[in-house]
Amino acid sequence: MAEAMSSGHRDEADIGQNDTNLPTPGMPDETSGTAGHDSTQMPTRTMRDLLNPPRDLALLRQRLFEVKDKIELQIDEFERYWPYVDNVWVRQHKAGTDKTGRAFTDYYACRLQRPTYTPKPVDSPRREGQPTRKKQIREGGTCQMRLKTIRYEGGYSGYTIVRVGDETQHSHDLDHIDKIKRTSVLMEIARSEVMKGYMPASVFTVMNEDMPKLLAAGGSHLNRNDVRNASQTWRQQHRDELRVHEGYKYDHGNGIVKHDGLVGESQIMGEVQMIDPSLDNSPPLQPGTLIFPLPSRTFLGPYLPPQSPLVNESGIPHVTLTYATSMDSSLALAPGLQTVISGPESKAMTHYLRSKHDAILIGVGTAIADDPALNCRLEGVGGFGGLGWDGQPRPVIVDPGARWLISPHSKVLQAVENGKGRGPWVIMAPGFAMDPMRLDLLKYYGGKYLGLTEFDKKWRLRWEAILKALAAEGIRSVMIEGGGMIINDLLQPENASFISSVVVTVAPTYLGKGGVGVSPAARRDPTGRPQPAVRFQDVKWQPLGEDIVLCGKLPGARASTVPGPVTVEALNGSGSFAPP
Ligand SMILES: [Zn+2]
Repeated sequence: MAEAMSSGHRDEADIGQNDTNLPTPGMPDETSGTAGHDSTQMPTRTMRDLLNPPRDLALLRQRLFEVKDKIELQIDEFERYWPYVDNVWVRQHKAGTDKTGRAFTDYYACRLQRPTYTPKPVDSPRREGQPTRKKQIREGGTCQMRLKTIRYEGGYSGYTIVRVGDETQHSHDLDHIDKIKRTSVLMEIARSEVMKGYMPASVFTVMNEDMPKLLAAGGSHLNRNDVRNASQTWRQQHRDELRVHEGYKYDHGNGIVKHDGLVGESQIMGEVQMIDPSLDNSPPLQPGTLIFPLPSRTFLGPYLPPQSPLVNESGIPHVTLTYATSMDSSLALAPGLQTVISGPESKAMTHYLRSKHDAILIGVGTAIADDPALNCRLEGVGGFGGLGWDGQPRPVIVDPGARWLISPHSKVLQAVENGKGRGPWVIMAPGFAMDPMRLDLLKYYGGKYLGLTEFDKKWRLRWEAILKALAAEGIRSVMIEGGGMIINDLLQPENASFISSVVVTVAPTYLGKGGVGVSPAARRDPTGRPQPAVRFQDVKWQPLGEDIVLCGKLPGARASTVPGPVTVEALNGSGSFAPP
């Protein structure tokens, strides 16, 4: 399959890098959009698709039209939604693969990018008695909007849809395209209904029965002729058999209308009750889904990362430090021993916080001790009732000495495989690299490793280097969750200024001596007298279940040291970063 797909015009190496240099759209390939509008094959889309549309259809149509930001969809979601915008997007040429053979790229252009079609005057003699065929002028050439879809098939599978050219926009709205061209879904629905033996006019009436759903599907300009055109070939063979839907009748001057009474409704609804589970717009909750009620969220608002998509001037992402501790400031009963301290409400809060951050970061000790899934299981995020990977943070594991032995059984990879999390990034210190087999595994699951070259005398990695490397990878906010070494290191006087917000859950328990404590080194004034290590501002204490949550901010947060160039090797995990 990979071979067959790789026959695209583009060199494999420049897939995804050379977007402005697209081949000229000479031979649009419309197979995905319009083929089968009029055929005698039974279509796969039926009235059920119209009456039980995929969730947020109107919103997704708009998003897939504008492509303002990157859109990520799981494979089945893409296949469900894309036919609803195939009136907009015309595929330019067949897919190209990257060198792994697992990523397939397709380029699409807006329908209005095609040159305007002006019919030539007909001067050839027509056959006797044949009427002149009127050809319409097709407008075009007015819109430069293009996108590409990248389908990845590996340890995780999914589509990434991005705009080609940052500044490009449509020169028109979605309704304008809906007016010019119908989606394949609508045409298939129309044809499938006629092929049940119904008159096009009756099908048109029935399709208009639930107007909001027809509009959400892009059918605001659907007309009787569309239904006729969709089924013309089939009707030529079955002209005598067509009938009106049960419960509907022909009304002179009004076309097909519904009878009084419930016959028609019950018949259509009867069909609809056989709902394909994949089309159900309120799927059952996935096991393990967490619910964090809206009223509980309010107090966290001021401490969440800003909505603005920009990293601040210093190039440091918003850093939220969060952990759960006992009353004697312990994280765990003993090093390496996973200890549940806080209650279920706090757990739900943690997952809510995760959904608000681009990345979550832990140390390798925690990765080894807890084997965490490092995903977000909040109701409504991708994999838990939401679309794609919406709200799923990127797991980041700080593993300076390459100790983490990732395997396909690691929970974090299991989550990826099930479409419930993202591939992890692993940060390593200078002089260390990942075992090539493990690196392949990581990449297969959509992860990578970031080899830093910055060195610190006291510790092997500098926070500024880590945070800037993450920012360079597009991470605007990171939630730092543990464990003890990471938390204590970040709270050291020289690092604490990187913290933007802190959310600490204190549970009503003493873990006792011998635990893993949180206690950064004290600061000292010029005379050598000890000073408090850290004191938070804008503090709020919020009871949550049996726990209490402390939220705070740090004065001078992100007032990082003079920003210098940060060297990051092997950002794409190319494996070229070898130990000295
Ligand atoms: Zn356009």
